[in-house]
Amino acid sequence: MAHSPSEGVIRFEVAHRQMPLDARMHDETIRVLAAWRGILAHLRLLGQDPARYDGLGYGNVSARIGPFGDIARGKRRFLVTGTQTAGIAQVSAREFCVVEDWDITRNHVSSCGLVAPSSESLTHAALYDASPAIRVVLHAHCPEVWRHARALGLPVTHASAANGTPAMAQEVQRMYREGTFASTRIAAMGGHEDGVLAFGATAAEAGETLVRQLARALALR
Ligand SMILES: [Zn+2]
Repeated sequence: MAHSPSEGVIRFEVAHRQMPLDARMHDETIRVLAAWRGILAHLRLLGQDPARYDGLGYGNVSARIGPFGDIARGKRRFLVTGTQTAGIAQVSAREFCVVEDWDITRNHVSSCGLVAPSSESLTHAALYDASPAIRVVLHAHCPEVWRHARALGLPVTHASAANGTPAMAQEVQRMYREGTFASTRIAAMGGHEDGVLAFGATAAEAGETLVRQLARALALR
């Protein structure tokens, strides 16, 4: 088991079908999400750096895919970047998988794609379960926002909840229910060094939320 900042270890049980995704079907979603992922990489909020986290990749992004109607929790399918893909500059359908269903209590996800899902997929899933209005989730590593989360008025997950665990998923859902997270649309992950989670109805909404809070954090210093 890697130490807490790492994105390197899949902690959940994955039933993964190794197969190419339908690139055409997901093209628009992936291009928009990849564009915001590129902005995060430019800002060093996502990527792979020998000087950070023992050189392991950090950060991952996801977006719901249809159908968007009255879909039960645990079945609101989403695209998420694969495990160990954070260091790849330009991502396409090859670096994404579809998480098809999940069970937070059982710590289980089912997925398909050429890559296995990010180790933090359950945390993304927890947000899609929290509200059907959430369509995009960004997980970045932002030391400035993480350290100043309280001063910025942002919610923080309990330090005992490690990344990628059911405990983190439950923390995220608790914070959403309590209301602060629903209005800030961004939270710091107390038990995951530098970890932040932002969500939105669109990639732009989630990305702008993250960048805006980074600017506020930088203004504090
Ligand atoms: Zn992380």
